[in-house]
Amino acid sequence: MAKIELLGIEKTFKDETVIRNLNLTIRDGSFTVLVGPSGCGKSTTLRMIAGLEKQTAGEIRIGGTCVNDVPPGKRNVAMVFQNYALYPTMTVRGNIEFGLKNRGMPGKERQSLVHDISEIVGLAPYLDKKPQQLSGGQRQRVALARAMVKQPQVFILDEPLSNLDAKLRNQMRTELIQLHKRLGTTFVYVTHDQVEAMSMGDEIVVMDKGVIQQADIPSKLYHDPANLFTAQFIGTPA
Ligand code: ADP
Ligand code: MG
Repeated sequence: MAKIELLGIEKTFKDETVIRNLNLTIRDGSFTVLVGPSGCGKSTTLRMIAGLEKQTAGEIRIGGTCVNDVPPGKRNVAMVFQNYALYPTMTVRGNIEFGLKNRGMPGKERQSLVHDISEIVGLAPYLDKKPQQLSGGQRQRVALARAMVKQPQVFILDEPLSNLDAKLRNQMRTELIQLHKRLGTTFVYVTHDQVEAMSMGDEIVVMDKGVIQQADIPSKLYHDPANLFTAQFIGTPA
């Protein structure tokens, strides 16, 4: 578990500033959702937390420690992407344990971890199947399991459900909330869908044009929006 602090973060690509003066504390163990229209800077913010993109200015702390100079593999953060790629020739088991083999975890320990995690995400019956034999939801669970075996302090999920149909998306939302409860780890979740944000987050960060418009609990956003953008985006009744 770890809280994440973003202090005075800015990000400029060439001459375009896409994140401005971003100050945010993501509470330890929270399910925090970043929500906002396409292009507002959600993915860039996640990539900076994960260390896949370096901020132009400001400081990022994870668990109280400045990670500005810590490479992605050492930040104890695991990321699940929208367009997760599974290795097509490997089994589900192979996909899940791939990162563990690289780290040199002994076979017995690996087996037991993969077993436990595949039980949690409902993949136990499918461990010997190949990705193309799975449904969209099952493939998404493999991507999730692959992040879980790293046992990170922080899970970062970038629109992980957007390729699924509406029914499955609903089911996976519930499963992710249950998973968060069970693990107690900090989750940072990105979506452009305000309904998804309001139904999943215990803290919600509304972004527009690279700027945080409001960061609050769902009921406060709904009943006490800080500005017109948040009011319209979240959909306060007139
Ligand atoms: P979101 O995830 O909210 O849709 P992004 O963080 O992907 O938004 O992008 C924010 C802005 O930064 C967009 O204007 C996008 O075009 C720009 N951007 C993102 N990545 C790059 C990059 N590697 N080079 C140049 N511009 C980028
Ligand atoms: Mg994005």
